[in-house]
Amino acid sequence: MREEIIRTVEAHREEILRTYRDLHAIPEWGLEEFKTSAYIKERLNAAGIPVRAFTETGFTAEVVGNEPGPRVGLRADMDALPFKNEAGETYYVHACGHDAHSTMVLWALLVLKELGLVKKGLARAIFQPAEERLVGAKRMVEAGAGKDLDELYGVHIRPVQEVKLGQAAAALWHGASTVAEVTITGKAAHGARPHLGINAIDGAALAILGINSLWANPAAQWSAKVTKIVGGGVASNIIPDKVTFTIDMRAETNPLMEEIINKVKAACTGGAAAVGATAEVRILGSVPAAEYDAEAIANLSEAIKDVLGPEGLIEPIHSPGSDDFHEFKMADRTLKTAFLALGADCKPGLHDPQMTFDPEALLIGTKILALALARRLNS
Ligand SMILES: [Zn+2]
Repeated sequence: MREEIIRTVEAHREEILRTYRDLHAIPEWGLEEFKTSAYIKERLNAAGIPVRAFTETGFTAEVVGNEPGPRVGLRADMDALPFKNEAGETYYVHACGHDAHSTMVLWALLVLKELGLVKKGLARAIFQPAEERLVGAKRMVEAGAGKDLDELYGVHIRPVQEVKLGQAAAALWHGASTVAEVTITGKAAHGARPHLGINAIDGAALAILGINSLWANPAAQWSAKVTKIVGGGVASNIIPDKVTFTIDMRAETNPLMEEIINKVKAACTGGAAAVGATAEVRILGSVPAAEYDAEAIANLSEAIKDVLGPEGLIEPIHSPGSDDFHEFKMADRTLKTAFLALGADCKPGLHDPQMTFDPEALLIGTKILALALARRLNS
C-alpha cells in the first residue's frame, strides 16, 4: 500500500505541480472561489468522482467502497488573501498556501481512486471556502458537508521557523479566538447638569477596568483586551449616552474561552450598572480551539513515519494562530480529528505576499494524506 501510493504520486509528479501552479495563478477572496472550485471540480469529474455543492463555491467529492466501513475525510481550504499595491488597488495572493492544500487533498483522492484503495467505507474530500474570513467551515458544516464522517484530517504547510521540509507533526494545536462588541447605554444630559444624565463613558471606563482586572488560570494561555473604543459626539458639553468598544479574546481551550467570555460579560454588566448604565455584549465572531483525538493522531503519525521515516515525525505543535477547521468537530463531538502540520520551508512566513515554499512538500503531503486514508479504508 505504502509503496504503491508513493510510486503513483511520483508518477503524477508533473501533473501535481501543474495543478498547484494553475491554482496559484487564480487566487480568489473567500466566498468568491468560483474559478478555483470550477477547476478542482473539473479534475474530479474527469476522474469519474462525483462532487456535491454545499455552498456557492464549497463542495465535497466522495469515493465510496464496496462494503460498509469507516467514513474518513480530508479538508482543504481554497481562498487567497487580499493585499494593496502602491496605487491602493486590492490584489489577491495565495500567501497562506491554501492552493497547496487544495492540490494535496485533490491528488490524495485521485490517487486513492486510481489505485482502488477505497475498499470499504468512504473517502470524502471537503473543499471549503473562506477560511481566512473564518466563516467558510461554519457554512459548510451548517449545510451538512461534514455529516456522518467518523474521522477528518486537516492540513497546513508551516513556516520554515516552525517545521523544516521533510518533517511533519500530526497535530497543530490552534487556540480559540472571539471578538465581541460592547455597547454601553446611559442617558444624555447638559454638561452643566451631569446629575440629570448617565455618562456612558464612565460606565465604559468601569467595564474596561473590570475586563483588565479579570483572571483565569495563569498556567494556561489566555487574554482579553479592548482593541477599539468609540464614544461622545461633536460637542464637548454633552454627557454622552452611548459608547461602543471591541474586545479581542484568546484562549488555549474552548472551556477556558467560555470562562473568559462569561467574566467579560460580568465585568461589562457590573461596570455599567455601577453608574446606572446598561451593557450589551454582542459576539461578532469566534473560532473554536483545536480538540483532536488520540486515534486520529496515531493514524496520521503512522502515515507520516511511512512517508518521511521515523525521524520525520515531530512532536505536536502549539500555534498562536486559529483555523476554522475545528468547526467540524464542534458540530459533531463524535468526529475524530487530527491535523497535518507539514514542513514546506515557507519563507519569509505565512500571510506575506512574497511567501514561497518548497514544492516538494506537495508530493510529501499528498502521499501522507492518501496513506492516512488508505490505512483506514483497507485494513
Ligand atoms: Zn491558512
